[in-house]
Amino acid sequence: MTTDTLGNLGRGARLYAQCPGCGRTKTLDPAMLVAHAGPDCTVAGALKRVVCGECRVPAKTWRGYDPIAENLGKLDKQSPLR
Ligand SMILES: [Zn+2]
Repeated sequence: MTTDTLGNLGRGARLYAQCPGCGRTKTLDPAMLVAHAGPDCTVAGALKRVVCGECRVPAKTWRGYDPIAENLGKLDKQSPLR
């Protein structure tokens, strides 16, 4: 059983935010969210705290997935080369 926390985000997980004020879009760094909220914080809870660096208003956030990054991670583990 897995809980939806920052610490359980997979390698391919991607988090995005867009400011409703200035329209800037940003890809969030999960490691940075962990540094702020801790690995036990839920993903939804951490995303609620995201604000635009310029306007200081809550940003619209959504989640994505990068299958390429996920597969690269698997290749790393299986590779006999060091
Ligand atoms: Zn903004």
